[in-house]
Amino acid sequence: MTDSLQRFIFDSAPVRGEIVHLNATWRAVLERHAYPAALRDVLGEMMAAAALLSATLKFEGALIMQIQGSGPVKLMVVECTSDQTMRATAKWDKDADLPAGFRDLVGDGRFVITIAPSDLAQTYQGVVELSGESVRTVLEHYMRTSEQLETRLWLASNAEQATGMLLQRVPDSRQDEEGWNRAVILGETVRREELLQLPARELLHRLFHEEDVRLFEPRIMSFRCSCSRERVVNMLRMLGREEVQSILQERGAVEVGCEFCNRQFAFDPVDAEQIFVADVVTPPTSTRH
Ligand SMILES: [Zn+2]
Repeated sequence: MTDSLQRFIFDSAPVRGEIVHLNATWRAVLERHAYPAALRDVLGEMMAAAALLSATLKFEGALIMQIQGSGPVKLMVVECTSDQTMRATAKWDKDADLPAGFRDLVGDGRFVITIAPSDLAQTYQGVVELSGESVRTVLEHYMRTSEQLETRLWLASNAEQATGMLLQRVPDSRQDEEGWNRAVILGETVRREELLQLPARELLHRLFHEEDVRLFEPRIMSFRCSCSRERVVNMLRMLGREEVQSILQERGAVEVGCEFCNRQFAFDPVDAEQIFVADVVTPPTSTRH
């Protein structure tokens, strides 16, 4: 299956939805860090959830979803752009044997959604306490309280794929409670294997064959990391000349790794000096490989 995000709507009930399949995108995340299985599956569910939510929120730029935990898993970050590119990373206690349950992994903490517009307009941030026993319940709670949208999610992830389905109640004048409830009850019958194995059209047929459901063209999802040497240069400028000098004295070079894609950016003393020369154009990155 290709990496796709696919919208559908019910013609006879106030329901819209999305189905996401992440294969190569998800494996690109897994190739870059060796995540323990328990963490891997939760991070995969977050990937699927971020893609699904990105389709329901209007934005140009990046949607960043974070779970900040107090358990052995300290942080999980997933980013999805309006161009349907994604990246993800996590921080965890590498000495700990990770437990299997979501709340045992993350403990108490916060769920943060940030929308960073590409035109550098005002960043939006929503924060809720972690509540619930899964990525799914955390997200459903967030959508109900912060976005006032009735949303249901079904998520599944393994070493090969991250997939999910979202149903959202469309505000309607008829207050069609029954149509929404019926869709949710049918959605609840979905099995993990079906999410992982069935293409969108077959999954919708299996779940909602008695409803009038229209499926739209898929949008292609892919892995991409937005890190660059230029961004690292800006970060080092913010850090300040003195701090950079002290790192150089200690280690001989400044090395910064991207937490998402593992790419390494190195600055020797000559490079580092140039960072602080006003209006100097950064050397092209192609000479650095
Ligand atoms: Zn990167």
